[in-house]
Amino acid sequence: MASYDCSKCPGYCCSYPLIEINKRDVQRLADHFGLSFAKARKKFTYKDPEAEYALRRKADPHFGRICRFFDTEERRCTVYHARPSTCRKYPTTNRCGYYDFLKFERWQQDDKDHIASTDNG
Ligand code: SF4
Ligand code: SF4
Repeated sequence: MASYDCSKCPGYCCSYPLIEINKRDVQRLADHFGLSFAKARKKFTYKDPEAEYALRRKADPHFGRICRFFDTEERRCTVYHARPSTCRKYPTTNRCGYYDFLKFERWQQDDKDHIASTDNG
């Protein structure tokens, strides 16, 4: 059983510097927003030396930068049902290092809503 609970996490993995997605993911996002593939590609992704399609990011008060689809107030994904396959699969193990750190910090500060910051700008 997984030792983390994404519903209680402020979305650290959505702030990774490079979130690579694939062509099918771009198409899924295009369908979700009623856009053409080309428009969705331009609006939601950029080409990185390491990835043909990387999710665009925006400023985040806790982690520096975060995925453009992340609601920085509610701390959740706004395209959950259309989210890319990378996001569906992650994390691939039954532990999440950030969640372990978060649990420890929340326990230490006696604050179940504390957001343990680490800058991924
Ligand atoms: S995988 Fe880890 S960092 Fe990502 S939302 Fe879940 S608990 Fe948070
Ligand atoms: S699409 Fe959603 S789950 Fe994936 S990185 Fe962006 S906000 Fe996170």
